[in-house]
Amino acid sequence: MTIETPSAAAATAGTAPEAPAPTPPGGTVLLAAPGGYCAGVARGVDGVEKTLDLYGPPVYVRKEIVHNKYVVETLTRRGAVFVQETDEVPEGARVVFSAHGVSPQVRAAADARNLATIDATCPLVTKVHREAVRFAKDDYDIILVGHEGHEEVEGTFGEAPAHIQVVGSPDEVEGVVVRDPSRVVWISQTTLSVDETRETVDRLRERFPQLIDPPSDDICYATQNRQESVKTIAPRADVMIVVGSANSSNSVRLVEVALEAGAGAAHRVDKADELDPAWFEGASTVGLTSGASVPEILVREVIEWLANRGFPTVEEVRTQTETITFALPRNLRSELAAGGLADPRPHAPRRVSPDHTS
Ligand code: SF4
Repeated sequence: MTIETPSAAAATAGTAPEAPAPTPPGGTVLLAAPGGYCAGVARGVDGVEKTLDLYGPPVYVRKEIVHNKYVVETLTRRGAVFVQETDEVPEGARVVFSAHGVSPQVRAAADARNLATIDATCPLVTKVHREAVRFAKDDYDIILVGHEGHEEVEGTFGEAPAHIQVVGSPDEVEGVVVRDPSRVVWISQTTLSVDETRETVDRLRERFPQLIDPPSDDICYATQNRQESVKTIAPRADVMIVVGSANSSNSVRLVEVALEAGAGAAHRVDKADELDPAWFEGASTVGLTSGASVPEILVREVIEWLANRGFPTVEEVRTQTETITFALPRNLRSELAAGGLADPRPHAPRRVSPDHTS
C-alpha cells in the first residue's frame, strides 16, 4: 500500500487521467507493519485509563505502566501517580502493577499495606513467571536470558531466586555454574533480540547438551513480528528510524536489528522533535518503525516531519497482521461492570497464528 501525504498529493494534482502515474517527487518512507502498540501494552494503558474513569485520580501505578515517555506523561496529566515502590502508595489505596510484571515479594508488600491491586502484567509475561515456578518446583537450574535490572527480569527472577541465574549475552554463558548439567532449562525475557537469544542458547547448549527449551517461545509475538518487519525493510533503508523510549527494551532491540539487517544507519527517537535533519542528507529511502509501547500519534508526527523535509511518500510494508487482544484484568472488569462502565475489549485473547504467539 502506498500512502501519499497531502504535499505529495498536491504535487501530483492535475495529472491527466490517461497519463502514466508520475513518480512522486522526493524520497520514500517505508513504514514497517506491524508496529506500535501490542496487546499487552494496550491492555495496560487501557487498564490505567479505565481505573481513572471509574475511581478518579489519583490512581497509583508501580513503575511506568509501559516504557514510553509520552504515555506516562499523558496518564500523569489525567491523574495517574507513578511510584517506584508500593511503600510510596498510601495505606489502603489503589495501585496498578505495570505490564512488565512483579515478583511475589512486591505482591506481598502491597498486601501488607492493604493496597487494592490491579495487575496489568501482560499475560505473556505471566506465562514466563509460571514456567519459572514450575521448573523451580521440579528443582531445575533455570537460566533466564534477559537484561539484569529490567523490571520484567526482576519480576520473573523473584518467582524463584534460588533457582534462577540471569544471563544477558552469549559472552556471559561461560560464567554459568549449575548443580546438575542434565537438569538445566532456559527461559527468557519477552522483548529480546531473537537472533542474539538464539546465539546465547546455542552457547548454553554447547556447555549443557541436555539443556531443556521452554514449552513455547518466551520472546513474544509482538517482539518477533516487529523485528521481522524491520529485517524486511532495513536492506532498502538508507536510514532507519525507530520510535520508542530509551528504556523500552523492544525498541532498543529494533535499532540493533535494523543495523544488523543492513540499514545504512539507525536512530531511536522518542518523538519527531528529536529527529536531526543531518541524518537524512543524501538519503532517498527512510525506514520507519515503532516499539510495542508507542502510540500511533508519535509515528504520525514523524511521518509528517519527514513529509515536510523531502519524504512525501509512505509505503507500508506489512509482514504480519496482528489481531490478538487481551481482556482487562479480571477484578477491574468486575469493578467496571459494578460501576456501570463497560470493558471495551473482548474477554478472551485471540491468537494471531500458532507461529506468532507465545
Ligand atoms: S511486548 Fe509482548 S510481552 Fe511485552 S507487553 Fe507486549 S505483548 Fe506483552
